[in-house]
Parts: sequence; structure tokens; C-alpha cells
Amino acid sequence: MTDIIQLLPDHVANQIAAGEVVQRPASVVKELMENAIDAGASTIKLIIKDAGKTLVHVIDDGKGMSVTDARLSFERHATSKIRSADDLFQLHTKGFRGEALASIAAIAHVELKTKQDHEEVGTCIEIEGSTIVSQEVIVTPKGTSIAVKNLFFNIPARRNFLKSNTVELRHIIDEFHRVALAHPNISFNLFNNGSDVFNLPSSNYRQRIVNIFGTKTNEKLVPVDEDTEVLKISGFVGKPEFAKKTRGEQYFFVNDRFIKSAYLNHAISSAFDGLLKNGTHPSYFLNLTVNPQTIDINIHPTKTEIKFDDEHTLYALLRSAVKHSLGQFNIAPVLDFDRDATLDTPYSYKDNGASIPKIEVDRSFNPFKEGDAGLGKQTTSFKRQTQATSHWDGLYVGLESKGNDSPEDFSEMYFESEESSSSLFDDENEMDKVQTTHQIHSKYIVSAIKSGMLVMDQHRAHQRILYEEFLQNMTIKEGASQQLLFPLQLHFTPQELVLIEQLKTDLQRTGFVFSNISEASVEIIGVPVSVPESEVSIILEQLISDVENEVPDSHFSATDLLAKSMAKSLAIKTGQTLKKDEQEHLVNRLFACKEPNVSPTNRKTFITMSVDELDKKFI
Ligand code: ADP
Ligand code: MG
Repeated sequence: MTDIIQLLPDHVANQIAAGEVVQRPASVVKELMENAIDAGASTIKLIIKDAGKTLVHVIDDGKGMSVTDARLSFERHATSKIRSADDLFQLHTKGFRGEALASIAAIAHVELKTKQDHEEVGTCIEIEGSTIVSQEVIVTPKGTSIAVKNLFFNIPARRNFLKSNTVELRHIIDEFHRVALAHPNISFNLFNNGSDVFNLPSSNYRQRIVNIFGTKTNEKLVPVDEDTEVLKISGFVGKPEFAKKTRGEQYFFVNDRFIKSAYLNHAISSAFDGLLKNGTHPSYFLNLTVNPQTIDINIHPTKTEIKFDDEHTLYALLRSAVKHSLGQFNIAPVLDFDRDATLDTPYSYKDNGASIPKIEVDRSFNPFKEGDAGLGKQTTSFKRQTQATSHWDGLYVGLESKGNDSPEDFSEMYFESEESSSSLFDDENEMDKVQTTHQIHSKYIVSAIKSGMLVMDQHRAHQRILYEEFLQNMTIKEGASQQLLFPLQLHFTPQELVLIEQLKTDLQRTGFVFSNISEASVEIIGVPVSVPESEVSIILEQLISDVENEVPDSHFSATDLLAKSMAKSLAIKTGQTLKKDEQEHLVNRLFACKEPNVSPTNRKTFITMSVDELDKKFI
């Protein structure tokens, strides 16, 4: 019998380990930045070239390494951070596995320069695919600089698997945000291809968020603070009216480590219950501090998921802390408006008939007489009334705030309800007319055709129609534009503005007119005829997220993407009731399209069923 098992050589084992640790340039960014933090740095610079494919370079002013440590740091399972398995439950550092540098050095060209504070000179080590190619004594400032070049140079398959620069840069910026948000007291810089993308001075948490996401963010933040024995919560949630269609700004940090948790995310969503428009997600930036002994970080390769001893309690505490903040800052009642207020009537009031409000007129009141008590009397009686009802959970506080703060939302709400009721009536009136189309479940439109029956998906069909229309506007003729009464000022982060600049020409062809694109905002004075003003920010937000997340390099066509994205945002949604003429119009327009069969994302727009097929069903 021959033995067939062999120990893998180190460089092969390292490459395998690298597969877990390093998925893309952003993973290198994360590992290097975390090492810099563990080294006690107060300033960390990140320099990127070609979205990290050519270079990821992190420079810190932390404690540096001795010559021996510099050498050892590239060995697998070499770490200064834990000594025994018990330490895994006492973690105060980001790293502990001693794998990152070994993994990175296995699949890239790495140059390490490091010097400890008390030393005169430092060490420079160059290593390529796990092989040390040089080691020198050098003059270098205190701290560590690690440059990782030509990632995956020896694994072409992995290199080819990388996404476009836009997508990879997005991942890098995400990691950068996560680390920078967890450590507002450390100053961070990010340079991409020589330009300064982020310059974040040491600051408090609110300022850090604002420095990253733009000055407009400040007014959106509601502080959350809760200190209990098991859990300390601090940070901010975004006001519900600023909730986004995309899940961008959702951050949990547990003991200064960014983590993903669908369960805790649910706790936040449920705290926002009833406050958000459908399909929008709240922003949050929350720091949870727990006893390190009550969590296990060692359950996931990238340490972004952790196991809590008592998740249920955390859930409940988090939910109530967020709810409390939303209530305290008078945000909750504002949105209670979207619900049927009668359902909220406290039980004890349920059977009391509504009393007609009385207007007390003080006939002796003389407005020209100075110091007349009449006015005072009225005010006090009003005050007393509010006090008496104040235990109605502030139900009617919403009336005032809604009216004051966001008149637009108000009108929108009425518009929506008017629309749905009127279309309902139309349907009833038309019951006895000849019907060519019929809408079912506010989703499909059914129509009789020569051969039998057609069932059309209203959302997908409308996407196809809009897509072809936008595409035509962009490529053949200019789309008509409607001028806005007041310029629309929209705020974006610097990297979002870079994308808008790139797409500007195409956007203009669809009918957008920009009067000014500055460092932090965009001013729009005209929009395509088919685009309601209220949708503009959602369209651009969706567009940016589509560009950043979905497009691999090879098929990238800005025009096509823009048309798809706008069609997606503007198409009639599932759940929308359509009037008869709207239904017919939709069917006719779909069949006037070049490719009516599929939506822009290649999904069926309609199906047909012949009379024969129907007949068979009745056998
Ligand atoms: P881990 O962080 O899990 O310990 P790494 O492979 O990331 O493993 O790093 C190995 C060791 O190298 C660390 O434990 C630390 O002692 C040292 N090291 C890495 N980066 C730095 C740095 N920027 N400054 C000082 N020491 C560092
Ligand atoms: Mg590390």
C-alpha cells in the first residue's frame, strides 16, 4: 500500500489561504488598514492605482516593526496579537490570525518599509509570491509602509475575474468608509490615481460621517445613545424622510469592527416600522460596545460576521434605543400620517364619539386695547386642550410637523389616495362597456387577441417601452426637456459626482439640463418631459448605484445603462392600478417596440395562451 498524502509546500498553502483572505483589491485595503490601526497609528494614508489592481499602498505612523518581526510578519500564523486560544475571546485588535500578510505576499509583489520609534534606521523587505527577493537597512520615518503591487500576478484566472475599475474602486471605498467610520479619532487620506479623494481629519463621530457623506448629511442624523449593562449603543440613524432606495449607508460596528448582521438590521427596520415609504431603507451608523467575551469573531474568513451570546437581548435593546431616539426627536409622529389614524386610537378612546371642536369667541376682546386679556385666554384654553390629549402618544403632533416641514410630501400623499379612488370608480362605471383589456392584481394586464389571450406584466412592459424611448433620445434625437420653475439642488459625495460627470452628456441627451456641477452638489434646471421632478433624485441615486454595482467592464455602455436605469426607476410599478385607457395604451405601445418580448433585463414581458390551450384546460 502506498501512502498518498503529502504536506503542501508553504507557498502553495499560502496561495490557498490567500483565496480566503484576499478576494479582491478591497480585501488588501481592509487587511492593511486594520494592521495600521492595530499598530496604534494616528494617521493612515491609502494610495490606490487602477482601483488597486496595480497598487494598494498603506502608510501609517504606528509603532513599526523590528527587523526580526518584519521578516516574521510574512510567515503564516505569525502574529503579535494573540498567544493562546483563550485570547480569542479577549480580542482588542482587528487581526489575530496572522494570515493576512502571508496571504498577500503569496499573490502579489510586496514592499515593506518599517521603523520603530526608538531605532535610528528601519528595514525594507521585498517579497514576490512568497519569496523574499531583498532585505535592506533603510532610512525611513517611524511607522510602516506596505505597498502591494500587481495583485494576482501569479494567478491570472483570479486577475481576470476582477470587475471593472469602477466596481473594484467602489469596493475599496466601501472598506475605506467602514474603517474610517469605526475610527473617527484617526486621520485618513485616500488618493486614487494621484487625486485626493478623501481627506478626513481626526474628528468626532458626527463630523466624520459628514466628512465622508457630505455636509447635507448633518441635518439627517438623529443621535442614538443607550447605555446598559450588556450593551452600549451610540451613533446615529438617518431621519426616515431621507431613507434611500438602496441600502448604501447602513453601518454596524461592534467593538469598532464593521459587521454585517441581517438580524440586527431587522431590529432597526422594525424600529422604523411604519415610518418609511415602501421600498426605502433607513441609514444608520451605530456603534455597539459589548464585552469581548460575549462574542465570537472567529466564525468568518473576513470577520464581518460575528456570533453573539445573546442576540435576542441585543435585538430588543437596539430596537428600543432606535425607537426611543426617533420618538424623542419627534420624528415618529410625522410619518404616522401615512397610516390610517383611526387604527391608532388608544383603546380607552375607541368608543368615545368624536367631539366637534368648539371655537370660543371672546366677544369682549378688543384687539386695539393694549394688554387685553382675551387673547391670553384663548391661548391658554388651547394649551390646556393639547395637554389633555398629550398622552395620545403624540398622535396629532404629526399634523403640525408635517404641515411645517414637508408640504411636498403632504400633497403627494393626497395625490396618491385620490388617484387610487378615482381609478376604482372608473372601473365600476366602465363595467358595462366593451372591455378589451383588464388589469388583475394590479400587476398583469389581460387582453383578448385573435388567437386567444395575452397576459402582460405591466412593470416589465413599461420598462421596455421607456427603455427604447430613452435609448432613441440618447442616440438619435435629443429628448425634450421641461424647464423647472426653481433649480433643483442635489447633493452627492465626491465619487458620485465623478460618475455624474461621466454620464453628463448622455443625461443631457435624455433631457436633463445641468446649470452647475460643483464639488458637493449638482444643480438641475431642466428634466426630461417624462420625468416628474420628485423622481429626479431617486433616478440619479439608482443610476449611480447601478453603475457602481452592476456593470462588468466588457459590456459597459453608459448610454444603455442609463436608459435601463431610468426605465427601471420610472416604469409603472406592480401594485399600481391602471385606468382602462392607460392599460390599452400600454399594450399598444409595447407592441410598437422593437423588441416587445423581453424587458431591458431580458425577462418576459408577456405570455400568450391560444384558444386551443384554453380549450384543453376545460376538458
Ligand atoms: P494579524 O494582523 O492577524 O496579526 P497579519 O498577517 O496581518 O496578521 O500581520 C502579522 C503581524 O505583522 C502582526 O501581528 C503585527 O505584529 C505585524 N504587522 C503587520 N502590519 C503592521 C503594521 N502596519 N505596523 C506594525 N506591525 C505590523
Ligand atoms: Mg492583520
